[in-house]
Amino acid sequence: MFCKNCGKELDDNAVICPNCGVPTDKLYAQQPLSEPKKINGIGIAGFVVGLLGLLGGNYLFLIPGIIGLILSIVGVVHMKKCNSANGLAVAGLIVGIVSFIFWLLIWILAIGIIMDGSYPLY
Ligand SMILES: [Zn+2]
Repeated sequence: MFCKNCGKELDDNAVICPNCGVPTDKLYAQQPLSEPKKINGIGIAGFVVGLLGLLGGNYLFLIPGIIGLILSIVGVVHMKKCNSANGLAVAGLIVGIVSFIFWLLIWILAIGIIMDGSYPLY
């Protein structure tokens, strides 16, 4: 075969042209068909933070839930570029929404009770 870049005659098994360094068609033929794993790290982070928000939202107000929710949304948007841990991004989004709504209702309820005056503050 001949180099498609410089035209030099090459060994049939050569994966790269020794003359100009351009890869031959053999190089692409040898590569595995499956894509390398691209882990959806933001999705994992969203899931973990969302879970923390669900468990500890009463101490830290709604902050972990909101951060988890934002990270999960970014993770879900990012899904097309990744082929691993995409399920966690979706799970994180669900956990984030549940966490946010759950603690939002708790805080609305708590503030409502305080405003009502029936909650013994002193
Ligand atoms: Zn060449």
